[in-house]
Amino acid sequence: MNKCWICEKQGNTGEHLIKASDLKTLFGEVSQSSPLYFHTSKAKNIPVGSIKRSKRLKSDALICNDCNSRKTQPYDRAWEQLSIYLRSNWDTHYHSGMVDLTKVFRGNVRESVLYVHLFFVKLFGCRIIQDNVPINIAPFQYSLLHAKPHKNIYLSIGPRPGELQKKYAGVTPIESLNINGGSAFATWLYMVDTISVNILYVTKYRHPNVMKNTFHPEKFLSKIKIKK
Ligand SMILES: [Zn+2]
Repeated sequence: MNKCWICEKQGNTGEHLIKASDLKTLFGEVSQSSPLYFHTSKAKNIPVGSIKRSKRLKSDALICNDCNSRKTQPYDRAWEQLSIYLRSNWDTHYHSGMVDLTKVFRGNVRESVLYVHLFFVKLFGCRIIQDNVPINIAPFQYSLLHAKPHKNIYLSIGPRPGELQKKYAGVTPIESLNINGGSAFATWLYMVDTISVNILYVTKYRHPNVMKNTFHPEKFLSKIKIKK
């Protein structure tokens, strides 16, 4: 029961469902006297006084120290870099409709794109375990442990829906289309500040409208399109 869902050894901590660095760069210092306000579908305005320690910001799905640090830290860092880059020039990127990844990542851009993908594979896995989404977790474990792409996970980047004047970070519920007890398609948004990442789980049916402007590390491009 207390196993790390990735490697199945002893689990220790829950992963932040919104990356701590995204929360810190957006909200600045958070404390008991200057808290964040946390909302769920059931409760609103719950004060959170620490990004690092609050359990509310973390998944119930446990991971071990080794998976949390050594194995998946490069994935976290790749997202951190892309997130900061996108948010610092968002209007320009949005109007150009494009992000040149060679300007975001120094060195091996292809590897960095894979790592961004794996960061969301990790978050998605945490949510599948936590919310009992009927998606097989084994390919998620394999991808994370071997630094290989998950063939059914696609990402796209676009503007955050809702009022942009308000500082906001959050995730939407996972919408899953289930056929015969298993998910055939699932989608959710990861939102921070002005941007959102749409995480898609697509099996057989890849309608062009759904796949438009998505990216996957196996079809590597140095530029990605912004979803408008
Ligand atoms: Zn582990």
